Amino acid sequence: MPKAVILVVEDDAPVRNLITTALKTNDYKYIAAPTGESAVMAAATHNPDIALVDLGLPDIDGVEVIRRIRSWSGMPIIVISARSEADDKVEALDAGADDYLTKPFLVEELLARLRATQRRLAYLQTDSAAGAMFQNGALKIDFAAGCAWLGGEELHLTPIEYKLLCLLARNVGRVLTHTYLTQNVWGAGWESNVQSLRVFMATLRKKLDAGPGAPQYIQTHVGIGYRMVKVE
Ligand code: CA
Repeated sequence: MPKAVILVVEDDAPVRNLITTALKTNDYKYIAAPTGESAVMAAATHNPDIALVDLGLPDIDGVEVIRRIRSWSGMPIIVISARSEADDKVEALDAGADDYLTKPFLVEELLARLRATQRRLAYLQTDSAAGAMFQNGALKIDFAAGCAWLGGEELHLTPIEYKLLCLLARNVGRVLTHTYLTQNVWGAGWESNVQSLRVFMATLRKKLDAGPGAPQYIQTHVGIGYRMVKVE
């Protein structure tokens, strides 16, 4: 298998070195970019597999870098940011980022995110992701028939719960923001419907809960949104 190429967008040299050293010792290739403009250029010329993007850059903002890359590429983007405020992460996710990591982070955590992203990429190339049938662990969705099962038992979902489940499944591995989910379920103008979203998400999760020890399919990101996890 060819080594994955990671674009590292970070203006802080010590942090950049920490990341590139970790990548090198873990058998990744990398391209380092210290500014936003050089990052957009590197993304276009080298077509990396995954981009790690710091939000606070000296020239253009990391969110702008994400928007520009997203205008032509679907490459997974993981935001690395010192900004702990949820709003910055939400903005980056709505601009098209897939995931985020808050500084300071452990190298192990970064490597785990990269592995999860690679699993997602590999999964997206399978029939299960491209076709009308979705499978993730014991969870199965037949998009064409509009049915879902958990461990062979059909799930009895309300139309809204089913819509939410499909959205999360079609974006498995990505953090979806409250705005993204409410807009796609209720339409534009309903972004403030976060309270309803919470209620529907709680009932959906209860229906997806197969008891102690069973995988948790949906992760909550407080103040940000939800993610369906790709289970082994
Ligand atoms: Ca920075």
